[in-house]
Amino acid sequence: MAKRDYYEILGVSRNASAEEIKKAYRKLAIHYHPDKNPGNKTAEEKFKEAAEAYEVLSSPEKRKKYDQFGHSSIGNTYSGGAGMNMEDIFANLGDIFGDAFEGAFSGFGFGGDPRKKRIKGSDLRIRIKLSLEEIYKGVEKKVKVRRMKMAKGVSFKICRHCKGNGQFSQITNTFLGRMQTLSTCGACQGRGKIIDHIPVGANSQGMIKEEELVKIQIPAGVTEGMQLKVAGKGNEAPFEGINGDLIALIEEMPHEKLQREGLNLHYDLDISIPESVLGTTKEVTTLVGKARITIESGTQSGKILRMKGKGIPNFEGRGYGDMLIHINVWIPKKISREQREMFEKMKEDDNFIPHKSQEKSFFDRVREMF
Ligand SMILES: [Zn+2]
Repeated sequence: MAKRDYYEILGVSRNASAEEIKKAYRKLAIHYHPDKNPGNKTAEEKFKEAAEAYEVLSSPEKRKKYDQFGHSSIGNTYSGGAGMNMEDIFANLGDIFGDAFEGAFSGFGFGGDPRKKRIKGSDLRIRIKLSLEEIYKGVEKKVKVRRMKMAKGVSFKICRHCKGNGQFSQITNTFLGRMQTLSTCGACQGRGKIIDHIPVGANSQGMIKEEELVKIQIPAGVTEGMQLKVAGKGNEAPFEGINGDLIALIEEMPHEKLQREGLNLHYDLDISIPESVLGTTKEVTTLVGKARITIESGTQSGKILRMKGKGIPNFEGRGYGDMLIHINVWIPKKISREQREMFEKMKEDDNFIPHKSQEKSFFDRVREMF
């Protein structure tokens, strides 16, 4: 394949200044940078082509030879268009862009040791539905999570440009005196190492998406909307960075019989007219099975019975809520003739005329609950 003219590649004239050449290359390098064009082979070729052109034209000696003899003057160092090593290109880029270059392309959150930059993987979010019984006791859940992981067989090597330091220090003479400036290594983007081997199926950073079964310990007493963090079980980060976290959002499933309100549980209990008059014992559903409660004779509809400590445990381990049983006297819609006679008779009886008793009023009971 015929090689394109280096001036043409950079889009500059034959008598362009060194500054113009640098500027033109900087523009092309940004445009065709692999970080901006992942997986785009054409862009990669253009990127390499521009790097090669710059490599020659930025050196006065090489440029002079090239002007005289063309491509043949360069020898076979850069033959074949893609002859330049990406590592070399990045290292040079680091030189011409300095730290501004890094800001333009590092799409990751860096943290930790400022000398060698470590990437943090992103967090993963899942929802976990829990029954009240599970919330009461606490539970271990196993969830399937699709995480980005470092593929098996990925290997790294020390970046030979910065010798693993991730940066270069430069002494420059300015009118203020000698100044030391640090610039990030462009070849490894400050990581100190570069990828050596990428296994089949992994992306350019050696990462692969895999399903994993993750165990999550859910403590007793969690509430709807609470977020539990499983440290390190989010996406892994490329270049042996820090793992992201797995964030589990708690969702509470409705219970057939019980309603939760904070730490307390509410339970509606229907009793018959005779039961309310005569008293009885009843079985109620709790979160640990069944419990028997005594209904005293003369129990009014609307009465609330409190079972202390039968509610939800406090998340921080400070005791339990209560279970509140709301009594409702069930009244039949249809009655037989005999029953009607019986009720007619009661109606005449003074004892069945409602009167203010020693029972607390509804408002007193509400006040008592808070
Ligand atoms: Zn490096």
